[in-house]
Amino acid sequence: MIIRFLIYAALIYVIYRIIKLFFRTDRRREEDIKQERPPVQPAEEELVEDLNCHTYIPQSQAVRKEIAGQIYYFCSEKCSEEYRKLNNSK
Ligand SMILES: [Zn+2]
Repeated sequence: MIIRFLIYAALIYVIYRIIKLFFRTDRRREEDIKQERPPVQPAEEELVEDLNCHTYIPQSQAVRKEIAGQIYYFCSEKCSEEYRKLNNSK
């Protein structure tokens, strides 16, 4: 009977440790994100809108296209082609 009690106690202890570990890693992860955020975006880069799929991309990563004398930005070459085709068909 004492052995069974010890097994239960050990089990409860293990479960308690697992729960504690989960909470601790969650909290640590949040702290890591907070600390890592500034180096990831050192300077506030201007975001440009992709007119084809309507996502925002940093200007440096965007595909720059001049259509009818206007500068447009796209997330990919594919999007710029799709937008150009749509514009031409109008
Ligand atoms: Zn796109």
